[in-house]
Amino acid sequence: MDFEYPEKIKKLQNRIQVFVDDYILPANQAWHDEVARGNYPLEIIERLKSKAFSEGLWNLFTPELEDHEPGLRLSNLEYAPLAEIMGRVPWCSEVFNCSAPDTGNMEILKKFGTAEQKKNLLEPLLLGEIRSVVGLTEPDVASSDLTNLETTIIREGDEYVINGRKWFTTGAKHPNNKFSIVFGVSNSNADADPHRRHSFILVPMDTSGVSVVRDVPIMHHHAPEGHCEVLYRNVRVPIKSMLGNEGDGFLIAQARLGPGRIHHCMRTIGQCELALELMCERALERKTYGKALAENANIQDWIAKSRIEIDRARLLVLKAAWYMDKDGPKAARIDVSAIKVTAAELQTNVVDRAMQVFGAAGITPDTPLSYLWTWGRALRFVDGPDEVHLRIIAREELKKAKIMTGQNTSHFIKPLLGN
Ligand SMILES: Cc1cc2nc3c(=O)[nH]c(=O)nc-3n(C[C@H](O)[C@H](O)[C@H](O)COP(=O)(O)OP(=O)(O)OC[C@H]3O[C@@H](n4cnc5c(N)ncnc54)[C@H](O)[C@@H]3O)c2cc1C
Repeated sequence: MDFEYPEKIKKLQNRIQVFVDDYILPANQAWHDEVARGNYPLEIIERLKSKAFSEGLWNLFTPELEDHEPGLRLSNLEYAPLAEIMGRVPWCSEVFNCSAPDTGNMEILKKFGTAEQKKNLLEPLLLGEIRSVVGLTEPDVASSDLTNLETTIIREGDEYVINGRKWFTTGAKHPNNKFSIVFGVSNSNADADPHRRHSFILVPMDTSGVSVVRDVPIMHHHAPEGHCEVLYRNVRVPIKSMLGNEGDGFLIAQARLGPGRIHHCMRTIGQCELALELMCERALERKTYGKALAENANIQDWIAKSRIEIDRARLLVLKAAWYMDKDGPKAARIDVSAIKVTAAELQTNVVDRAMQVFGAAGITPDTPLSYLWTWGRALRFVDGPDEVHLRIIAREELKKAKIMTGQNTSHFIKPLLGN
C-alpha cells in the first residue's frame, strides 16, 4: 500500500493551487462585496471559469466522459486531494465546474438520461453554460425518509403534472439555473411497493407554475445561489421529461448520492486544514500573561487533536473513494455513510477549537471560521442526517453479527460466563 499521491496528481495539485493563489484568492474580496450587495457575482465566476476551461482544469470529478466531453477523467480517489484544495474557498468549485448539486446531477443524467436529455441538459452542464438543482426535501414531511415525500407527478395524456412544495433546494437562485430534477410520487396506489412509487422528473425552471418562493437563510452562511423554497403548482411537462422509468426514483437517488456525498467530505478536509492553519498562526502570535497562546498545554492539545482527526478523516475519505471507484456507489455505501458522519463532526470540532483560539473575533465575519462552522453544522443534514447514516452502518454490523453469532466471540465470553 502506497500512501503517496501519484506524480500526475501531485502535478495537478500544484496547478490547482497556483490557479487558486493567482486568480481565486485575489478575487475573494470582490466576490464577498458583490454578495453583500445582494448580487450573484456572475461576472467574476464566468471570467475565471473561462480561464480554468482554457487551462484544462475542468470537470475534474468524473472519469466517465465521452471523447467529445471536456474534462480530466479523474477517478474519485484522484479527485479527492484536488477537491480538498478547492474546498478552502466556498465558491471555488464552481470555477472548475465541480460544484454541487451539478456534479451529482451530471452523473445521473449520464447514467439514466435519454439521448435527447443528454444533448439538451447534460452537454450544457458539462460545458458550464447552465446550472441545475435537485428537489427532494419537503417542509411538510420528514424527508430523511424518502418514502414520505408527497409531491405528485401524475400522468395526464402526453404530459406529467407536478404539484408540491420543496425546500432547501440548493442553487435555485443562481442566475444560470435552468432546470430542477424533482422527486415525487408517480404511483398514487398507497399499497404499491414503497420503493417503486416515486420518480425523478426534469423540470425547466421557466415552466409555468414553478416559483422560487424564498431563499431560506442558514445561520452564518454565504450562499448567494440560495437554499430555496420552491413551489410547483400544476406544472406540466411532456412525458419525455421522466428521468429513467416511472418508479425508478429510489434507484436513481441511490446512484446520485454516492459521489455527491463524497465530494462534500473531500472539501471538508481542506476547510479543516485551513482552520488548523489559522488556529496555529493565531496561537503563535497572540500573547496572554506573558506567553504565546501556543505555549499553553490545552491549546497544544487542541492543535494535536485537530491534526490527528483531520488525518484520520482523510484516510477514511480516500478509502471510500477507492472503494467507490472499484465497486461502485452501492458497494461503498457503508464507507460513504461513515465519512459523511465523520466529516461533519470533524468540521464542527476543529473549527470550534480554532474559533476559541481567536477569541471573540472567531465568531465574527472577520475570519472565515464562523462560515466554516456553520457549514459543518449544516453538513449534519446535507445528503441525510447523521442518524440515518449511523443506522445504515449499524444495520450492516448487526447483519454480520447475526450470521457470525457465537462463532468469533465464544472463546472470549464462555470462560467469563463460567466464572
Ligand atoms: C445547506 C443545506 C443544503 C441542502 N440542499 C438540499 C438540496 O439541494 N436538495 C434537497 O432536496 N435537500 C437539500 N437539503 C435538505 C437535507 O437533505 C435534509 O434536511 C435532510 O435530508 C433531512 O431531512 P429533514 O430536514 O426533513 O429532517 P427530518 O427527516 O425531519 O429529520 C429530523 C431529525 O430526525 C432524526 N432522524 C431522522 N431519521 C432518523 C432515524 N432513522 N433514526 C434516528 N433519528 C432519525 C435526525 O436527527 C434528523 O435530523 C439541504 C440541507 C441543508 C442544510
